Amino acid sequence: MGVKVAKFGGSSVADGIQLDKMRRIISADPERRYVVVSAPGKRFDGDNKITDLLFLCLSQMENNIPCDQIFQVVCDRFTAVKLNLGIDIDLTEDFDEIRERMSGGAPRDYVVSRGEYLSAKIVAAYLGFDFVDTEGLIVFDKRGRVKLDETDARLSEELKKHEHAVLPGFYGTNLETGEIKTFSRGGSDITGSLVARAVKADIYENWTDVSGFLMADPRIVKDAKPIGNISYMELRELSYMGASVLHEDAIYPVRLAGIPINIRNTNQPEDQGTVITAEHDPADKRVVTGIAGNKDFTVIAIYKNTLNKEIGFVRRLLSIIEDHRINFEHIPTGIDTVSIIISNKEIEDKLDDVMEDIEAQLKPDNVDVYTDIALIATVGCGMSFRPGVSAKMFNALAEQNINIRMIDQGSSEMNIIIGVSNKDFETAIRTIYDAFNE
Ligand code: ASP
Repeated sequence: MGVKVAKFGGSSVADGIQLDKMRRIISADPERRYVVVSAPGKRFDGDNKITDLLFLCLSQMENNIPCDQIFQVVCDRFTAVKLNLGIDIDLTEDFDEIRERMSGGAPRDYVVSRGEYLSAKIVAAYLGFDFVDTEGLIVFDKRGRVKLDETDARLSEELKKHEHAVLPGFYGTNLETGEIKTFSRGGSDITGSLVARAVKADIYENWTDVSGFLMADPRIVKDAKPIGNISYMELRELSYMGASVLHEDAIYPVRLAGIPINIRNTNQPEDQGTVITAEHDPADKRVVTGIAGNKDFTVIAIYKNTLNKEIGFVRRLLSIIEDHRINFEHIPTGIDTVSIIISNKEIEDKLDDVMEDIEAQLKPDNVDVYTDIALIATVGCGMSFRPGVSAKMFNALAEQNINIRMIDQGSSEMNIIIGVSNKDFETAIRTIYDAFNE
């Protein structure tokens, strides 16, 4: 029999109704032996996530304001679920201990991790699985990075002893201090990935509230087609451009172990969702896998005659960017031109100083700055070595009178990034989508 790790996000464990759906999913497949849970999320618009309430407790504590009332709301939500589903568990001792530690000024990560801790305890009792705490099993070094191999050894050693287990997402232990340490927000996805690697799972199922990835943002392309399978590399390119369902650090551990990730929908378990695998399936003749993008980038376009003969020009440009501690996105180059593309958020207050340095140090013939650029990535392993893909895209955009301000294609040929004016963003995405979905 195979082994599956199923991670359920905040909306999938938000209340009794969602937990009941989760239980059905688990009992429908005996291979789903290891479950990782987030803290309960929002039950409706305007509701609070448990983790947000815990962050609120923390800021009250930091300002010496009592947080008992907010923590009581947290306790009440868990108690309501327990009563609603008739789960046989007493959380009073846990509540008391957390309250006591908080009154003594408990560390940040301990406080915000308690949502996952309590969630896993209650889910374990509901499913009749063992509760296995990730404290001391997922371990971080003193710089806050997961010690991957040690974590793998500790988790697999422990989980061998449990036929079925529920583990809390989001945290582990800092080996230096011995204290609880959390991942960044949304980090339960990483826990699921580490557990999947440790138990050598056949698949890592990530249960959320959407049926995987769509080819484009449905707010822009109505009825955008679902993506049945996608490679890690394609996903990386699309997530970088804002198509986010999964924490980006969740990919590495399972990728290392060659375990596919399946994004599934707790509210529509019959949907197959998106499967993320190491390699693109060669039998799949699809050209474009997905289209994603973001608005609000700045392009600084620098022109200088015979720039191509000037040694060190690009290095000096990048040093200027580095000196201002700016993160850049792309640097497309021509014979006498080089452009640098930076998100508006990064450069906003620094643009004048950067321009001054460029003029003084690079002595360009001309510099143009555009601050209203949107970037669109068209991604697909099927694009490489296939002639005519960019022609098709550029013709379609030309027919819509969309001016392309920049083009960048990575050497992997699985991604074409174009820059268009912010106002053309939505039309450009729809046009590309239609061109490849006739
Ligand atoms: N509960 C944490 C958060 O809200 C972690 C997670 O759900 O993955 O960010």
